[in-house]
Amino acid sequence: MKRSDIRAQMRRDRDSKTLLDQARQYVFEYIEAVDERAVFPDENAIRNLDRFDEPMPERSQSGAGTLEMLNTYGAPATVAQTGGRYFGFVNGGVVPAALAARWMADAWDQNPALYVISPVVGKLEQVCENWLRELLELPDGTVAGYVSGSSTATLCGLAAARYALLRRLDWDVNAKGLFGAPPIRVIVSQQAHSSVFKALALLGLGKDRIEHVPADSQGRIDTSRIPVLDDRCLLLLQAGNVNTGAFDAFEEICDPAKKNDAWVHVDGAFGLWVKASPARKALAQGVELADSWSVDGHKTLNTPYDCGIVLCRQQDSLVAAMQASGAYIQYSEHRDGMMHVPEMSRRARAVDLWATLRYLGKHGIADLIDGMCERAAQFAEQLAAHRFRIRNEVVFNQVLVAGDTPGQTREMLSTIQASGVCWCGGTQWDDEPAIRISVSSWATTPADVDRSVEAFVDARSKAGPYDTDGL
Ligand SMILES: *Cc1c(COP(=O)(O)O)cnc(C)c1O
Repeated sequence: MKRSDIRAQMRRDRDSKTLLDQARQYVFEYIEAVDERAVFPDENAIRNLDRFDEPMPERSQSGAGTLEMLNTYGAPATVAQTGGRYFGFVNGGVVPAALAARWMADAWDQNPALYVISPVVGKLEQVCENWLRELLELPDGTVAGYVSGSSTATLCGLAAARYALLRRLDWDVNAKGLFGAPPIRVIVSQQAHSSVFKALALLGLGKDRIEHVPADSQGRIDTSRIPVLDDRCLLLLQAGNVNTGAFDAFEEICDPAKKNDAWVHVDGAFGLWVKASPARKALAQGVELADSWSVDGHKTLNTPYDCGIVLCRQQDSLVAAMQASGAYIQYSEHRDGMMHVPEMSRRARAVDLWATLRYLGKHGIADLIDGMCERAAQFAEQLAAHRFRIRNEVVFNQVLVAGDTPGQTREMLSTIQASGVCWCGGTQWDDEPAIRISVSSWATTPADVDRSVEAFVDARSKAGPYDTDGL
């Protein structure tokens, strides 16, 4: 193809809309099959991924062929996350209206860096901020930044904390950096998520300087072991332990912490949404007393991926920490998204977040969360009835399961993962391997739990007899 022809090809492809029709057809087929296909791709599908190992084409290829390749070799090697029996990590499904809204936003190709680049996304960011503040019962004035996920949201929250704590000590960290800065203390539970330690390291707060506080049997920070805090302290808490789903005792901890002017950040990646469930929000009582929070749309709320949110009580600290500046930047009186995040250009995340919040409404979100918790309780009850050991108090959407011996647990886990019936991850809990069940999708039904419990029973029978006193 001649160089100029590619433009003509793109114009034809755009105007005829045939590629979008083709994609739509593939997506419809995918959705129709997802509930019954193997949850994890089989060996054949994985082997076929080799088809992508082709040399980078010299000449342009057809759009139809490109999409066909994705559908033929890509789709079968996906993990069926949008079906009802994926329980790995804490991943979540996707709310239908959000997926559709995201398609629209993709067609619009908006950049929410500044209001002047996309008034509609600036508006929706503002609306989501107001709605989230109300839904999660956060203090007046709390602002939101829309980022890729909780890892980045935590980075932003901790950057705001670092800025504010040092500012009070008369140190401008933006100008002077950390060299020679007055020391600040960072207090973290031993059970904090790995992304918290990553953020601290990236911010120059050091891994070795952290003061670790032991956690209790459920992974909650041991309140009695938290040191006396002062205005040089950054305390990290957790709403939803990634293994057990447990919540720290926010009220008991935050009251004195705030009286002493410490900064409290809460990693609420999946658990902060509990505030939207009237039946369960007492689990996070007092979480609103913190200064900053990180939460994911793409977990419990089931927005499409790439939707993390940093929330910060003090707008000026977050904005100062993100230090958006540049001569060509045209700020407005409206919401300029880049003021609250590290990036400039980014995906219009607020579109699908807004669609999710609007489509579900407060009742729908409460129902979504309660349903996940009920399915988790169903799992625990049925597995216990089959003599599996449940290793956590099931307070939210997470269940930790073990067999009779560590060896049996490991073998069961690999059988379950290969079964295609459901997919669970593994972890180490209390010095012993455990299988993690995270009920994070709206699509999981009681029948999905029944089928998955059968897969557990089946996996144990395949694991063969284990000598319980031998290990
Ligand atoms: C998933 C998770 C994170 C990281 O979030 P990403 O969106 O994957 O960056 C942090 N903390 C907890 C508790 C999580 O579950």
